[in-house]
Amino acid sequence: MYCRECGKDIGNLKICPACSCDNRGKSRLTAGLLQILAGAAGVGRFYLGYKLIGVLQIAATVFTCGIGGAIWGLIDGILILNGTPKNDADGVELKD
Ligand SMILES: [Zn+2]
Repeated sequence: MYCRECGKDIGNLKICPACSCDNRGKSRLTAGLLQILAGAAGVGRFYLGYKLIGVLQIAATVFTCGIGGAIWGLIDGILILNGTPKNDADGVELKD
């Protein structure tokens, strides 16, 4: 994998040896914003690895002509920004 800050290939290391940035958690802010902006397609959930929830959100969007998925995505995005879930689908704590 590549360091998210400097782009250097750091293999399986979590802490980048070049810039010492922490590459462990996914960004809570990114996930929340993705979900608020594109939650009807479950984008924030897919980003976090919660594929089943993402698929359900797409299904909700399809079956309610967009309204259900958009509302669910908005609420879900706000929840993510406020700390739910704490971890991504791999159990890695999200970075604030
Ligand atoms: Zn780095």
